[in-house]
Order: sequence, then structure tokens, then C-alpha cells
Amino acid sequence: MEYPHVRGTDPAVADALEAEADRQETTLAMIASENHVSKAVMEAQGSVLTNKYAEGYPGARYYAGCEHVDEIERLAIDRAKELWGAEHVNVQPHSGSQANMGVYLAVLDPGDTILSLDLTNGGHLSHGHPANFAGQVYDVEQYKVDPDTGRLDYDAVEAQAREVDPDALISGYSAYTRDVDWERMGEIADEVDAYHIADIAHITGLVAAGVHSSPVGHADFVTGSTHKTIRAGRGGIIMCREEYADDVDSAVIPGMQGGPLLHNIAGKAVGFAEALEPAFEEYAERTVDNAEALGESLVDSGLSLVSGGTDNHLVLADLRESHPDTSGGEAEDALAEAGIVLNANTVPDETRSAFDPSGIRAGTPALTTRGFDEDDLREVGDLIARVVDAPDDESVLDDVRGRVDELTDAHPLYEE
Ligand SMILES: *Cc1c(COP(=O)(O)O)cnc(C)c1O
Repeated sequence: MEYPHVRGTDPAVADALEAEADRQETTLAMIASENHVSKAVMEAQGSVLTNKYAEGYPGARYYAGCEHVDEIERLAIDRAKELWGAEHVNVQPHSGSQANMGVYLAVLDPGDTILSLDLTNGGHLSHGHPANFAGQVYDVEQYKVDPDTGRLDYDAVEAQAREVDPDALISGYSAYTRDVDWERMGEIADEVDAYHIADIAHITGLVAAGVHSSPVGHADFVTGSTHKTIRAGRGGIIMCREEYADDVDSAVIPGMQGGPLLHNIAGKAVGFAEALEPAFEEYAERTVDNAEALGESLVDSGLSLVSGGTDNHLVLADLRESHPDTSGGEAEDALAEAGIVLNANTVPDETRSAFDPSGIRAGTPALTTRGFDEDDLREVGDLIARVVDAPDDESVLDDVRGRVDELTDAHPLYEE
């Protein structure tokens, strides 16, 4: 990919942009939160909309000249309603974290109690980690997955909720490989009179396509990102019942943001239109099938997976038993050298540090976008295992890198 206008004004950035495009083209993007958007989404994002101010909402802006951006934001909202079946949608949060912030601002007061999954067990920073604003503003209590099964223990969450009496119960995760019983989480929240906030950032696309169960109807608020399993460009989204519409909208602006990123909202509109096509459902199904094939292949090669497998787009391998001398960080580095890009991740009952944890997390959304099938993922699982078995063996890394080159050549990403 070339960036002639950037090159004209800023060769240093043009060099880095072209190098990044080449990196994406020639490596396997297996960071579970990453994907590749279409050229249509990129065109919308890189458009004149970055020039426009439109504080407010369609039909009620604080600025003139908003008739065209109103149309775009309305399209994004209407398509989101169709995709997820939500009563009210706000497409203005700049990211998934800000979608969560918007919901907290809408219904919580400083000092209120949030009950959420521990970060090292698969939760998210914005669910109340001490280093995040949520951990500083709210009183945060955390639940864990069952260390033996790697799965949520709903009875334990219920017991803890009774004890803690939270104002908000958060479901939805960053590194959890199993389906979630949203109805049960909603019942637990009801029982203790807490809001149920379901954060589907990772699985937004899977839920839209109907290949993962949906929390809509079981949660007061559903938050998400628009760039992970749905390919609508970077951003966040809030969905809620109509009764909370005004609270959410005024929490987003003026509560926490100024002007919306209209170029990103256009990206969302275009990406949502793509997701409404029948082909997207096939894509989401293939993403899940591919993750299952990847997981089986890793297990066949001797790795152990948290929860034993996956119901969604990602797998989480715990290296402690199979490779006690290799940390997740060492595996991540060696794999990156071989052209397989994923991330080290904490596992339940983590015994190393968060900076160099015991697991690796791998997802299939991006590879599925570029056309990889289950056979390809089985092979990729094999390649990952070979590297993890011999992270210091340059000949193995070279060999795997050669095969990655062939695989990426066979599945080009952005053909001109
Ligand atoms: C990725 C993620 C988010 C949002 O992240 P941003 O980078 O802020 O868009 C929020 N919640 C969960 C559970 C996530 O995995």
C-alpha cells in the first residue's frame, strides 16, 4: 500500500506507514482483538469527516452544517439496532473503554461498588483495575473463574454478589473462551438490585451474526468495540434500554467527550452495513470454527488450553505444565520473530507476573478475514507449537517464518 500524499509532506511517517502495511501483509495477525477492515471502511475513516464538528446528536447539534453527518450517524445507529436488536444505541464513544466510562457516568456515583471479573482471569482494565479511572473512582470487587475448569462459576458469582451488594455487575471479558450465561448474570444482578453491564467488546461481531449468545435483553447496558470481531474501524458503542437513553447520551456528551469522531462513525456505518450482509454470518461462523481447529491442533501438539477449548474466536494456552521453562513473554517474542503475532496473557491462578505471564492468547478474526480455513488453522497451530517447543532454535524460527511467508502469500490482504 502506498501513501503518496503523506510521502509528499512527511516521508518519515510514510516510511513507517508502508512498513506497517507490509508487516500486516506478511505476518499472521493473531492478537485476538485485532482484525482487518475493508478498504471501504478505511475510505470512510480517512475522509473529510475528520474536518467536521458536530457536538450533540443528529437533529440536535450545537453547530451548523451538520445535515450530512446527521445522515451518517443515523445510518450507523439504525444499522446497529438491526444488528444487535437494541432499543437505544449511542455510536459516539471513541473506544470500548470509553463506552464503559459512559455507562458508569450515566448510572453510577463515585464510591459506588462494581463487581467484575479480575483482570488476570480475563477481565478488562476498564472494569475497575486500580491503574484505571474505574478503579480510582469506584469501589471495585472482583470475581474469578473456577481455577480447575477455567470457567465462570455462576453460583460463586451469586454468593459474592450477595455478600458485596454491588451497584453494578459486569459481565463480558477480554480473555474468556466460553459462552456466557447472560440470563443468569442478569438474574444475579436483579437479585442484588444492581445494574447488569455486559461488555461484549471482543465478541461484538459474533453476537451480531448470531454465532454467540446475546446479552441484549438480559443486560441493562451492552457496551462494545467496533474493531474486533466486527470490522467497522476503531471505536466504541453503547446499547441500552430506552429508559436509559437520555442518561447514556448525556453521559457521553457533555459528560465525557466533546465532538464525535465523525470519520470513525462513518467507518462504523459502513462496517455495520457490511455486517448486515449474509456473507458476514459465514465469516463469523468460520472465525469460530477456525478457533476450534486452532485449539484442537494446539492440544494435539501437547499444549493445554484454559477451559480445554473454546466457544468463540480465541484460545488461551497455559504453558506452565507443557513448557515450565518458557514464559508467555518468551513465547510471544519467538513467535513474533517467526512472523506469528499474538500476545502473552495471564491465566487463571497466575503464578508469574502480569508483565511476563504464563499464557499466550491467540484469536482467529483477522486470519479468517484474509481467507484462512480450518486446515490452515490446524497448520498454524502446529507452527505455534513448534516455536513454543524451541523458542531459542533459530533454524526452527527460520523454517516457520518461511512457511508463514507462503501462507501469507497465498492469502493476500489488500490487493491493489
Ligand atoms: C478490548 C476491550 C475493551 C475496549 O477496548 P478499547 O481499546 O478501549 O477499545 C473493553 N472491554 C473489553 C472486555 C475488551 O476486551
